[in-house]
Amino acid sequence: MDTRAQDSICEKFERYFKKRGESLRGNLSRINSGDVEAWLLEQGAKWRCFYCGAPTFWDEKRCPGCGKPLK
Ligand SMILES: [Zn+2]
Repeated sequence: MDTRAQDSICEKFERYFKKRGESLRGNLSRINSGDVEAWLLEQGAKWRCFYCGAPTFWDEKRCPGCGKPLK
């Protein structure tokens, strides 16, 4: 795969994450900076169900724990 094709795929991923309020490159630079533990704690707190506290996947529509809709 040439570099331009790879860039294009990266842009698609970036847009996909951005629509959901996440920055793919922002996350990667946090991880690369060596701040992994703090980043993991932040992400662990962020991706939780508001109602029951179950961990959720960022693209889920409903909580896997209680079934309530996720915002
Ligand atoms: Zn829940």
